[in-house]
Amino acid sequence: MNVFACVACAQVDFPRRLLCPSCGSDEFLEVDATQGSVEDVTTLHHRAGKAGGEVAYIATVLTQAGPRVIARLERLLEPGTVVSLRLESDDAMTASSD
Ligand SMILES: [Zn+2]
Repeated sequence: MNVFACVACAQVDFPRRLLCPSCGSDEFLEVDATQGSVEDVTTLHHRAGKAGGEVAYIATVLTQAGPRVIARLERLLEPGTVVSLRLESDDAMTASSD
């Protein structure tokens, strides 16, 4: 299954759109959304209006197909971890280790 991943955010679309509906970028990567390995992880601290708001992990994942994609992590993973990629119902790519 190939999907189109925005290079600027975690938004993934299928079929491809002209502009990312999330951030407006027009750069997409066609991705075989199956497996890859974590290259880099960024921790995002969301200010939810409460002390100790949510933390999100965003990873750069090198897919087996070649292109890098940006994916959310359900928990912090070490670089080099092999992950499965899947498309969530909210159209974001999520990576998880099995
Ligand atoms: Zn985007």
